[in-house]
Amino acid sequence: MSALIDVRAVSKRFAPRLSLGEKIAVRLGQPIETRTVHAVDGVSLEIRKGEVLGLVGESGCGKSTLGRMIAGIHAPNDGTVTLDGAPILGADGRKRTTRIQMIFQDPFASLDPRIRIGETISEGPIAHRLVPRAGARAYVETWLDAVGLPRDAADRFPHQFSGGQRQRIAIARALAMQPDMLVCDEPVASLDVSIQAQIVNLFLKLRRDLGLTMLFISHDLGIVRHISDRIAIMYLGRIVEQGPTEAVYRAPAHPYTRALLDSIPKLVTDSDELVTFRPISGELPSPLAPPSGCHFHLRCPKAQPMCRDAIPPRTAITGSRDVACHFPLEA
Ligand code: SF4
Repeated sequence: MSALIDVRAVSKRFAPRLSLGEKIAVRLGQPIETRTVHAVDGVSLEIRKGEVLGLVGESGCGKSTLGRMIAGIHAPNDGTVTLDGAPILGADGRKRTTRIQMIFQDPFASLDPRIRIGETISEGPIAHRLVPRAGARAYVETWLDAVGLPRDAADRFPHQFSGGQRQRIAIARALAMQPDMLVCDEPVASLDVSIQAQIVNLFLKLRRDLGLTMLFISHDLGIVRHISDRIAIMYLGRIVEQGPTEAVYRAPAHPYTRALLDSIPKLVTDSDELVTFRPISGELPSPLAPPSGCHFHLRCPKAQPMCRDAIPPRTAITGSRDVACHFPLEA
């Protein structure tokens, strides 16, 4: 499979929101300490045509920011994102393509409560001349069928639907733009567990039927394992391991991946009792002041003195796998 998306050494830095005290100080003309959030730090990866890449990590690790750069919503400070070899963003910093669409965690927030579903789904395709206004109703119904919603949903408003149905609407709206790729940012995290499986299965069906490429961002390792061909593990702005999903789950090479997998509670099947699990020690450090060297060294059980000083390069371990660790586990 050739690469559809090529992410090369992208970084993203933000100025953090000011506290109330800092805002007052600014109004009074007093100096404040300037800080920068290092959300994404020199990330490179490929997403191949037709594959699902799972992007995993704790909250605050930068995975949503990376997803937004791939979707063309944020411009990187450094590096490039290309789609079929062409930059996603124009020289003016604006997205140049509709071939990548994004699905967000909260479907209600992404739908305008005053606009009927039919108009929500059709306004983008009409604006981009994917469908004439006269054919919009039939076009909308095609996509409602595709996501398993009744056709009369087109006449209703967002508040008349459940959370799972709203996410189906958001998916229909994205698909109506006829994208090659979806960036799905925690698309089931706000849904009940019983609904999560339905939406994940819908993504799998759409991928099969439409040949979609997907970046599936989640903190839920079980869901990512179910849906992804490959996974990339992110820690504090950097990719620390990536490779085929089953290979990484069976034998993680990075101590952080190992710790993430050990932190999943597991059921003992004959008694249905929860076995003990090991949460990752310590907290994710602040991206305002990332640790030196390997960002994971303050929490890593295998850390050595050199881990504090030297950034581990991403190194190929087997075929299509690589890991960023000075002392990787046996993979
Ligand atoms: Fe642990 Fe060192 Fe590997 Fe970082 S580089 S994960 S601190 S062993």
